[in-house]
Amino acid sequence: MPEERKCSETNCSGNCEGCSHNSQNQSGIQTETLNKFSKIRNVIGVVSGKGGVGKSTVSSSLAVLLNRKGYKVGILDADITGPSVPKMFGINTRANNSDKGILPALTANGIKVMSINLLIEDPESPVIWRGPVIGGAVKQFWTDVYWGELDYLIIDMPPGTGDVPLTVFQSIPINGIVIVSSPQDLVSLIVKKAYNMAAMMNIPVLGLVENMSYLICPDCNRKINIFGESKAEEICNQLQIMLLGKMPIDSKISQLCDEGEFERNTADYLVAAADLIADTFK
Ligand code: ADP
Repeated sequence: MPEERKCSETNCSGNCEGCSHNSQNQSGIQTETLNKFSKIRNVIGVVSGKGGVGKSTVSSSLAVLLNRKGYKVGILDADITGPSVPKMFGINTRANNSDKGILPALTANGIKVMSINLLIEDPESPVIWRGPVIGGAVKQFWTDVYWGELDYLIIDMPPGTGDVPLTVFQSIPINGIVIVSSPQDLVSLIVKKAYNMAAMMNIPVLGLVENMSYLICPDCNRKINIFGESKAEEICNQLQIMLLGKMPIDSKISQLCDEGEFERNTADYLVAAADLIADTFK
């Protein structure tokens, strides 16, 4: 009798351990099945308790740094209502179809990007969709996109801790998450909510990036804590997670984003975070 096939992987060996087609997340919830022509070794979710704190900037920075280390990297822009990844990399094209699935766009250095902006007619028109439709679009980015072979897929998660990020957590087998916060989120309970959401799903939290942490005065080089003394260390201690990095407000970052030249970013604020991801998830 032929051996029973375990999944949709074309060359299924029957051993599910470490295979991206093993469609169960860490809570044992059955997730969506990855596009059958693709193989993704590690999926890292980048989350924030609310929008506008730099989640896309951190997602893209990690992707660029891992790509520079020689890994095959993709970015799944799951921030459907506020997609900003294509613009950061100067991608204005529409996605094409192939017999293996929807083809992601490629950045200048070969990072694969999929975003709702590559699929809609006018990227400037707002996406006014209800939660389940947004969740469905993100699932399709997992099931219908031909990612090929990737070492790391970075997911720029929908902001907040509502039903849309929850759907994504339940649909895609995420190996670990990075929480991004502003100094003010650390004072409020927003970071803890993001942490608790990941904990409820049994997804390991790699650590926290505090964005817009400080400012270096361009005249006197003095470090200015615009939002007061950082609470990042204290919160990380409380939650027993690592402080992955602190990014200052840096006009170079926003300038490169606006110009679509983010791959030219030479800031080293997140080098240690990218190294940790590469060391933790082989
Ligand atoms: P989110 O994904 O959380 O909505 P983004 O990463 O899109 O946030 O950032 C929001 C805006 O803030 C963007 O215009 C981005 O260029 C800018 N920005 C983010 N982080 C920084 C930073 N450290 N310094 C300067 N500008 C930043």
